[in-house]
Amino acid sequence: MRVFACPQSVTWVEFEDKGCLQCGAELAYDPETDEIVLAEGRSLCVYRVGIGCNWVSPGYGSPCRSCALTTARPEGDDPLAMSQLTVAEFAKRRLIRQLLHLTLPIDPRRGGTGLAFEMLAPRNGEQVLTGHADGVITINLSESNDPHREGLRIQLGEPYRTMLGHVRHEIGHYYWQVLVDGKAPLDSFRRLFGDERQDYGKALDAHYGDGADEDWALTHISHYATTHPWEDFAESFAHYLHIADALETAAAVGIHVAGPHGVPEPLAGSIHASGATDVAELSMSEVLGRWHGFTLALNSVNRSMGKDDLYPFVITAEIARKLDYVHELVRDAVA
Ligand SMILES: [Zn+2]
Ligand SMILES: [Zn+2]
Repeated sequence: MRVFACPQSVTWVEFEDKGCLQCGAELAYDPETDEIVLAEGRSLCVYRVGIGCNWVSPGYGSPCRSCALTTARPEGDDPLAMSQLTVAEFAKRRLIRQLLHLTLPIDPRRGGTGLAFEMLAPRNGEQVLTGHADGVITINLSESNDPHREGLRIQLGEPYRTMLGHVRHEIGHYYWQVLVDGKAPLDSFRRLFGDERQDYGKALDAHYGDGADEDWALTHISHYATTHPWEDFAESFAHYLHIADALETAAAVGIHVAGPHGVPEPLAGSIHASGATDVAELSMSEVLGRWHGFTLALNSVNRSMGKDDLYPFVITAEIARKLDYVHELVRDAVA
């Protein structure tokens, strides 16, 4: 993500901010220009009050570009569901901004095709499964709830689980359908990710049963990615978005990893990184070279705070080839 400033006081403001702490100006985010602007005189998203959406809208009384993609949401009279929706929509706006930045196609759902989000809060013990089906992304809003999500993370043995991670994963399924399926011969996809025609339901049952063999980490970015080629692609896609966004942020704030000091060569010389504003201008091996230096440095900083690693994953050569496939797909897909 780039860095934003209040247009009035020129102090640092965050992407999510609705006002400037320095000068008190009301602020909004304009997705068309990727700028934080003064809210005065602009039409603002109708969900600004209800869920704190700070985006500009295309017309008075209408939702913004991100909120317009949500076709099902809880009612305003349920405070818990509304606070969960607020958290989920924060993550989704970060996702949509990145898709616009990468110029990926976003076709709002019309007449049974295109992209839509259903933000559902389970009621009375009913089950809501987070997932993607033919352009419709369903999000179980309980995942906005930290204890619930953290409990599941531990139960499923996952090193990382966030709402932003969920929406980045599910949009990966959407782009498989839009950019891979039926668009190109599937040979190169199948060589890397496997044959997606295998039974999905059986694969999922097997995953939550015996689990994969112990060598999975050599070939898959996460244990969940081993369930089915679709899941492997969605996980790879999510990681590509994580890496691209974090490197954009590193470049925007000017983080340069000059290498560890006070250690002998070659270690000191081998770990360094500078940012990349736009991963599209780099090859995937250049991207991953920079990413390696950043994650070593930032993981160590997190550990200094008693936190888990910022990026608790290892990218092997085989996983790098899958990320390269995603990289080429994204570079070729100009909206
Ligand atoms: Zn909005
Ligand atoms: Zn999935």
